[in-house]
Amino acid sequence: MGTINRREFLRAAAFACPALAGAANALLAVPQRKLSPEDLVVLKSKCTACGDCVATCPVEAIKLKDGIAAIDNEECIDCGVCADECPTEAIVRRKDVPASEATAKPPARKEPPAKEPAGKPIAPGEEITYTMPENWVQQPLQGTGPDIKAHYVYTLQGIPYGEMFLSCQPMTGGMTLDTLFETGLAKVRPTLPYYRALGTHKTKIDGQPTIVHDFSYRPGGSGVLAIARTYTLTAGVSLFTFFFQTVQAFAQEASAYYDQVMASVKRAGQR
Ligand code: SF4
Ligand code: SF4
Repeated sequence: MGTINRREFLRAAAFACPALAGAANALLAVPQRKLSPEDLVVLKSKCTACGDCVATCPVEAIKLKDGIAAIDNEECIDCGVCADECPTEAIVRRKDVPASEATAKPPARKEPPAKEPAGKPIAPGEEITYTMPENWVQQPLQGTGPDIKAHYVYTLQGIPYGEMFLSCQPMTGGMTLDTLFETGLAKVRPTLPYYRALGTHKTKIDGQPTIVHDFSYRPGGSGVLAIARTYTLTAGVSLFTFFFQTVQAFAQEASAYYDQVMASVKRAGQR
């Protein structure tokens, strides 16, 4: 699934749904909150600038700056993934920062990781093809995760109403579509604040089994409710997930677009 920036989503929601505009704009206007003892911070005495946390943060709340990772606590949803990933246990609660940190020297730095190449739309011949309806505008992939191959925004008269992210991952040998879906959902679910499952069923896309999952969540823990649907299917040796989301007021109209996109999907191979 794609990374969702809270502020970008709130801006989109404010445009997309007049009923939510007041709440979204109010959230955007909230001044920076005070630092909390529970905020996650990076210890400069331990951070080797390896970039693992940056690569795994689902909301892009960590950046490498001046040779050390820095967490934007305004964007952080406190999922804890970065702390789990950090090989040097450099990410701790602010209240747990040792006094010695103020004068600590940074450890030897590793070379910064090579920048991940941006994903690219799946081209014909690369196991899957599909057609987006009119008014779904392709977006640049900068800032999305490495698995994201395409990002579209549905716009009507210049106003965004919905989003689609397509991710593609190599399949792990021996796993079924069901276990791949369950594993993927278990991994992503902690990154979706106020996640609520709305239903899961199977269908066929281009004649092959596909898992359809409906859920809602609040991006960035905000007051805006996102209605989302994923379609998970395999093609060749890859697992593809189409992730659609919109605001509640547009959910019914949006699902007609999802059907249209999925009816156009053609798989070039199967396991
Ligand atoms: S994973 Fe840990 S050591 Fe690596 S950049 Fe992040 S905080 Fe620093
Ligand atoms: S806790 Fe989660 S959201 Fe916050 S910086 Fe770490 S990975 Fe990103």
